[in-house]
Amino acid sequence: MTKIFQIETFSTFQVYNNENVCEKGDFNMQQNNYGRPAGRSGRKRRVKKRRRTIRPRAIVLGVVILIIIAVAIGWKSMSRSDTEEEKQSSVQSELPGSSVDGEVQQSASSTDESVPQSEPSADGNAQPSETAVDGAASDSEPDIEVVDGLTYVNGILIANKSYSLPADYNPGVLPEAQSAFDEMAEGAAKDGIKLYIASGFRSYDYQAGLYQRYVERDGAEMADTYSARPGHSEHQTGLAFDLNEISDAFAGTPEAEWLAEHAHEYGFIIRYPADKEDITGYSYEPWHVRYLGKETAEKVYESGLCLEEYLGIDSVYAD
Ligand SMILES: [Zn+2]
Repeated sequence: MTKIFQIETFSTFQVYNNENVCEKGDFNMQQNNYGRPAGRSGRKRRVKKRRRTIRPRAIVLGVVILIIIAVAIGWKSMSRSDTEEEKQSSVQSELPGSSVDGEVQQSASSTDESVPQSEPSADGNAQPSETAVDGAASDSEPDIEVVDGLTYVNGILIANKSYSLPADYNPGVLPEAQSAFDEMAEGAAKDGIKLYIASGFRSYDYQAGLYQRYVERDGAEMADTYSARPGHSEHQTGLAFDLNEISDAFAGTPEAEWLAEHAHEYGFIIRYPADKEDITGYSYEPWHVRYLGKETAEKVYESGLCLEEYLGIDSVYAD
């Protein structure tokens, strides 16, 4: 728009100049389409004759030019303030956790985890939810809450080497995790991928027996890299599944690749990613998925972090 005004201004100016002022070639745009070559003779008279009519016209032109310039300047400053406003609002939306986002995040994860009577106070809520929204948990303290022996970090139920579950916590596979898996299996089938649950819920006692067998076979130090001690298994939350083949051979199969690419779309994350052993406390398990709900799973996936990094917690046995 401003450009058009400028062009108009300029050409009007040229017409004015060609007719009236530029006789000595000092105006370097003289040779343009607007200028009519006039014979030398008779020019003076024509110019003289015109002066009378041109003066008022020149004034009018001048005024018009001034108006155009004024409008152009007005337009320019207006569009600049628009841009600034846009910038400001986009900055604002990027700020970690406007209260709305925080609330959505909190309530979503509460639902996802089906936390019974664990509505934390609004005050305790705001801070960690903001953090979770950004995925930059490491910058601020995670909100850790223990309800009936269950540890929630930013509203997410956690079972790892640092945080355990009560021995009598026996929820079974939670329905929302089951239906999310069913949906995922359906989606995978459409892509020609068959997914099935090899291991779902595991009770404290079952895990105790499992871990004991691994210790006897490989020793405690080795067993701790791939098997959880009783009370520390994510399978006891009812929100984790081992899919298809529980073995290193699963890595790199079309099923494992499909899972790594699509699990988050159904609310799951690959809980123990490769190269995160030092942080999760477990070696790479491409078959082990954890249900977080679509919103949170998507955020964790996008962050490229493992859950411990995402929440700003560790996974280390106390002893
Ligand atoms: Zn597992």
